[in-house]
Amino acid sequence: MSAEPRESHHPSSTQGSRIDPYIDSYAARTQGMVASEVRALFAVASRPEVVSLAGGMPNVDALPLENIGELVRQVATEQGSEALQYGSAQGNEALREQICDVMSLEGITASPDDVMVTVGSQQALDLITRVFVDPGDVVLCEAPTYLTAVNTFAAFQADVHHVAMDEEGVVPEALEESLANLTAAGRRVKFFYTIPNFQNPAGVTLSAQRRDRVVEICQRYGLLVLEDNPYGLLRYEGELTTALRAQAPESVIYLGSFSKTLSPGFRIGWVLAPSAVRAKLVLAAESAMLSHSTFNQMVVARYLTNHPWREQIKDFVEMYRDRRDTMISALDTLMPEGTTWTRPQGGFFVWLTLPEGLDSKAMLPRAVNERVAYVPGTGFFANDDGHRNMRLSFCYPTPDRIREGVRRLSGVIQSEISL
Ligand code: PMP
Repeated sequence: MSAEPRESHHPSSTQGSRIDPYIDSYAARTQGMVASEVRALFAVASRPEVVSLAGGMPNVDALPLENIGELVRQVATEQGSEALQYGSAQGNEALREQICDVMSLEGITASPDDVMVTVGSQQALDLITRVFVDPGDVVLCEAPTYLTAVNTFAAFQADVHHVAMDEEGVVPEALEESLANLTAAGRRVKFFYTIPNFQNPAGVTLSAQRRDRVVEICQRYGLLVLEDNPYGLLRYEGELTTALRAQAPESVIYLGSFSKTLSPGFRIGWVLAPSAVRAKLVLAAESAMLSHSTFNQMVVARYLTNHPWREQIKDFVEMYRDRRDTMISALDTLMPEGTTWTRPQGGFFVWLTLPEGLDSKAMLPRAVNERVAYVPGTGFFANDDGHRNMRLSFCYPTPDRIREGVRRLSGVIQSEISL
């Protein structure tokens, strides 16, 4: 390690200096911990004059706040002595039972014993990586993939390999080829991380035929599948899909979340894993946080028992469908020739490909100048791909703002083409 003091990314406690005195004390694994591009963007994109098509925040203003307030009051007054106490690291049992009902909508039969509550599905990603990944182990991911998952894998010094994807999701032949090559090279591949529904960032969904193939290939190689499904119930057309977990319970670890179908503020997600894996995850959770917020879990359990949550999801679906339709029709009408994009059947995201020769990252400052923001595609790859891509979110801005944002973006792309 260099003896030269390096500049820290964190504000230093030393007054007047930005040199981090602890720079040489950090564990080697922190070298994989880098601030995400989205985080830096949020500061700029949150200015009111900027139309942000960058962030993936759900529209919680659509929630019935009075009713949620009443549930909070009931938990405090009627169940206070349990709700204000420590709980188990596996999570509240009543909530785990409700979670099994939610998962049954996508064909999963599960016992509450095999479910562990997590602090959003993000904690599940962290715990699973902690339990499975040694430095240098390979984790397979779609290309592109959810950037915070990549950051988590990198924080545990995994070697992230991408597998090609198209409009029907991950390409099974590419998955098979990667596994064959890695196995021949003697590499330890720990799991295949996939977001089969309305993928973040690409917006595509794994087709029914490919689901069978993907599961079959992973089983043949004895590889665990990590199925991350926060958006599955937010489908704007077509039938709900069957989860990979429903097809192969022993080969799939399933990650769910209430962040998009209720609220990310409760920070409640879950993991459904083969029972031996679940036991390891509970031990890892104990050392990470001792126990969950009992209070939040009991509010959400009460919400699922007493509130028509399926109707609430239908309301979300209608609102987001309208926003998706607005974005797609604005893109169809306004985008210059040579620009292409995906057409998501659900979720929050459209993946746009710029005409040849353009670079989304280099273009971003000019876009922000024109008061529109997006996430450059490079952030969704562990390698140097994604320069011609960007992720556009339609979940948060109103339809009028989406139209205006696409109009501004199209102007920026047009002027880049003419340069
Ligand atoms: N996975 C994916 C694919 C996501 O898009 C997100 C949220 N943006 C998460 C996991 C984490 O969600 P949470 O921790 O809020 O459940």
